[in-house]
Amino acid sequence: MSKIKNIGILTSGGDSPGMNCAIRSAVRTALFNKINIFGIYRGYSGLLANEIKPLTASSVGNIIQRGGTILQSSRCPEFFEAKSRKMAKEIMDLNKLDGLIVIGGDGSFNGAHLFNIESGIPVIGIPGTIDNDISNTEYTIGFDTALSTAIEAVDKIRDTASSHARTFIIEVMGRNSSGIATHVGVCTGAENIVLPGVETDYDQIVSDINRGISRGKNSSILIVAEGTVPGRSYEIQKNLKEKYNLKAHLCILGHIQRGGSPSPIDRFRASVMGNMAVKALIEGKTSHATIYKDGQIALTELTNCLEKKNDAKPEILDLAKTLSI
Ligand code: ADP
Repeated sequence: MSKIKNIGILTSGGDSPGMNCAIRSAVRTALFNKINIFGIYRGYSGLLANEIKPLTASSVGNIIQRGGTILQSSRCPEFFEAKSRKMAKEIMDLNKLDGLIVIGGDGSFNGAHLFNIESGIPVIGIPGTIDNDISNTEYTIGFDTALSTAIEAVDKIRDTASSHARTFIIEVMGRNSSGIATHVGVCTGAENIVLPGVETDYDQIVSDINRGISRGKNSSILIVAEGTVPGRSYEIQKNLKEKYNLKAHLCILGHIQRGGSPSPIDRFRASVMGNMAVKALIEGKTSHATIYKDGQIALTELTNCLEKKNDAKPEILDLAKTLSI
């Protein structure tokens, strides 16, 4: 018989489409197994503020198709401090919560790991971020929907770019991770992809554009990963104009990539992960995360997922280059 009686669940960091599917799945799995489950609102901030309410089967009805997170999310600087995490443990005790599910990115996982070590409360992480930048999992919830949104947008820009024979710089999200930029670049036939941490080779960009023009191409798309600070592509636009007299139009896709109805892949995998997270707590797992690896959804130790992964794979950049000659 499981010792777990009351589970808390929260979403933390940047929201992503499919988080609601994971919440719904965890809630229904807990209730199916006669375990109470409580929504902790606004991530770790809501935990510290005791914003905790019981969830019922109907409170997660009709959310499977909705982007965002019904539990809301936040960034909570206080949670970096041990004294705040101690307070979080007291609030968990006050509410008799004996297990925690954290849906978020690598930052949220790091907070969850420290909280588990210091409090002894079992914690299961579910990877939820559009960036797909958590180590040891090939996939995070929301990545697939974000790709669809970005690809649809770039396709639309390509229509107008080719009607007017224009070059476009399109900045996609992902902070320091390259997953969205490389996938969007390959899937939209971008002429160039600029990644964080890789020096921008302007001579190469301009020669690629000119090569395309000389074989009759009438549009060029340059995909730029935002890097730490969004707006990086303004500098690229300025350099192309000032140093090469090349006029490029600019479009920053921004937060549109974080919203929208989750794709079938995000819905399905989030549903499996939510279910697996609750079962892990029932089975007595104390510090684990759900991951997607080699075509399977599985559990691993949370400590395997605390690093950001570097997916700036040269072979994908080479593929994009080869296909856009
Ligand atoms: P994500 O989870 O999407 O990577 P962040 O990196 O912003 O997003 O992290 C979300 C929240 O997780 C932070 O605001 C903070 O409350 C908590 N967090 C992140 N890193 C740590 C850490 N090293 N120690 C404790 N809490 C952390």
